[in-house]
Amino acid sequence: MDPAKSAHTENVVIVRDRIHITLTDGTIQFTQPINSVVFGAVFHGSGRVQLEPPNPIEAQQLRLFTKQEKLDMAFTEATFSFTDGLLDEVAKQVKWQASGAASDELYAKRQKEREDLGESALPRLLQGVLSTDRARTAFFLADLKTSGKDWVEFQDDALDPEEIGVARWADVGAVKHHDIWTSFPAGKTTPAEAWNDPQAKEDFFVRVYHIDAGVTSGADLNATTGVEIAPRLSGQSVLLFELDSNLRLDSIKDSKGSVLAFYQSRENKDRYQSYGNYVAVILGQPLNAGEAQTLEFHYAGKRAIRKAGSGNYFCESSGWYPERPNSFSARAGFDLTFHSPKNMVLVATGEKTGETVDGNARISTWKSEVPLAVAGFAYGDYKIANDKAGDVEVDIYANREPDDMMVQVERGAALRGAVGNLTPSAMAKTMGTEMANTIRVFSSYFGPYPYKHLSVTSLPMSYSYGQGWPGLIYLWSASFLDSTQRHVIGLPDGVQLTDFFRAHESSHQWWGHRVGWKSYHDQWLSEGFAEFSGNLYVQYRENMKEYVNRWRREKELLKTKDEKGHPIESLGPIWMGRRIASSETGRGSYQDLIYSKGGYVLHMLRMQLSDPRNPDPDHLFKDMMQDYCKTFDNKAASTEDFKGIVEKHMTRAMDLDGNHKMDWFFNQYVYGTGIPQYNFHASVEATPDGKTHIKGQLTRSGVPDTWKDAIPLYAHMGDKTVRLGTLGVTHSSEPLDVTLPAKMDRVSINDYEDLLADIKE
Ligand SMILES: [Zn+2]
Repeated sequence: MDPAKSAHTENVVIVRDRIHITLTDGTIQFTQPINSVVFGAVFHGSGRVQLEPPNPIEAQQLRLFTKQEKLDMAFTEATFSFTDGLLDEVAKQVKWQASGAASDELYAKRQKEREDLGESALPRLLQGVLSTDRARTAFFLADLKTSGKDWVEFQDDALDPEEIGVARWADVGAVKHHDIWTSFPAGKTTPAEAWNDPQAKEDFFVRVYHIDAGVTSGADLNATTGVEIAPRLSGQSVLLFELDSNLRLDSIKDSKGSVLAFYQSRENKDRYQSYGNYVAVILGQPLNAGEAQTLEFHYAGKRAIRKAGSGNYFCESSGWYPERPNSFSARAGFDLTFHSPKNMVLVATGEKTGETVDGNARISTWKSEVPLAVAGFAYGDYKIANDKAGDVEVDIYANREPDDMMVQVERGAALRGAVGNLTPSAMAKTMGTEMANTIRVFSSYFGPYPYKHLSVTSLPMSYSYGQGWPGLIYLWSASFLDSTQRHVIGLPDGVQLTDFFRAHESSHQWWGHRVGWKSYHDQWLSEGFAEFSGNLYVQYRENMKEYVNRWRREKELLKTKDEKGHPIESLGPIWMGRRIASSETGRGSYQDLIYSKGGYVLHMLRMQLSDPRNPDPDHLFKDMMQDYCKTFDNKAASTEDFKGIVEKHMTRAMDLDGNHKMDWFFNQYVYGTGIPQYNFHASVEATPDGKTHIKGQLTRSGVPDTWKDAIPLYAHMGDKTVRLGTLGVTHSSEPLDVTLPAKMDRVSINDYEDLLADIKE
């Protein structure tokens, strides 16, 4: 601390956009400068912080966390970390006292507490301190000890597209979760504008990753990764990357071979609360726009790969090479070289360009055909089965031997009756056929599969999830078991773990890879679309009834209350993305909301675009989806980008505002919350001239009066169902009175769960 920079505060006002902090009465003490930047301050006394949310969406989130319409809290202690004008701003409002303290434990204590939780404010602060462009890299973090909510963080980060944020570390079981109360761009910028070019504030692009990695039978990983970067802006000296902290860096060199200073988050080992996974590289010279260079990272460690049994390995998909945050918004080339055990098979993203054996090592090289968002690999004692979907080669890599958990399960099951040998490889051939089928269905709906190959590997039993990397899918091995085996070991049968799960993951080749997402707001374009795709595949693999049943169940899920008592759908709009996951929402609420409702949005659009007069009723929907994939081919898209495509393909019946916009739909279902309830009564009467007079009433409740819906209307004749058209419902009560030139027994709505609504008929 700087003893000369201490002051008594009386109503000192600190304003950052909508954040208003008042140091009502107390003492503020600043730090000594580093690189001539005073970067910290500590306050003791009484203060008040206020923030008025910028829009109804943020207001709704703020209410969820604080039960306040406008944030207004008292605080008694504060630490400030900053590289902006805070010192001058305070200096104008106080008189320095000569009697300041030389130290104050609070600053370091709070810094350490936040770091122990995995926060990376310190590397960000370092960026600001060492930057030659102080305004562009300005950083402000007020960490305030509030009454009622303990420590709450208020941030203004010039390098974040959403500069303003309020967050708090809150208990979720045994760990602390970083709840985001609000986050938005400063000034009058909308989030859509702020994220339109997600790279706008990036100092550099990554052009190519050159990764040379050794993986061993003991599950060690060591790598030399050259990151070819193209600086866009000048002045930055500290570059931030993300790397699994269990991989320890021993050197980083620049293009000239000079050894660079760096630091990375503490080694996590098996600690449940992460220390974070950041690397801060300190350049010898600040970045110069247009001057490309390569940084060479050398690192090694355990736990990035886990041995899960004889010939069974789990290889983490993210974190094994230094990545940039928000990687799905950008693309880079990948040149990969692997040194793996000779008796194992290794498969990676990209095209295999070579393989040799040297002693006990198998050396293989892989190159991305097109720039990719991410790269990954897997290895093990695999049985390989080949199939094809058109020109696309589909290769299944299924473990021959059961992994440790499977062995356990097998033993348990053997006591109850024979299961035979549990091995993913028994289903390898079938998996080839099934995965190839998913590619066929999705190619016909969404356009070409983006790569030449699809490799599918089995994940050990204890990793019960799936993940689609470009041309490389990791699938939980339970999906490689046959129905008898699944039954005997007590896994639920049915399409969820087979058709749906495989197809969901396969569709990420389109949703995430062929088309990426610009920001966390837009991730529903990946997970929601994958959910839709999984259900679409179930329709083709099983039948329409099963497809419709699945939407019915998704709707029920959205209406369920989570463990905190909030109906899942009410937690926030799907546009809120990962912010839905918080201490205020139940475990799994993020997935339940973003996946199920995100999928439902696409299903509703499909139903609105359905054209019963065409031999292919989905032709309009397919045109739209293919246009979307083509327009954003190997690029990132935003919610607004997708909305633009929908508006290009919308029908007249969808144009409820008569302005050729889908604002009504997106505002309700994507940027908003709410499930309407409809009461529908209609009688049909045959007219003497062979027509049908339909008379009825549609009333709505549970949502604001401004709500609108485009509701498909169906006629039933015997066991035949025909779509008559679309009801444009713009009022809470709509009469239906129409005579149609056809015979029918009755009319109905929502036959295909067309609407995310409760319908009473
Ligand atoms: Zn997914």
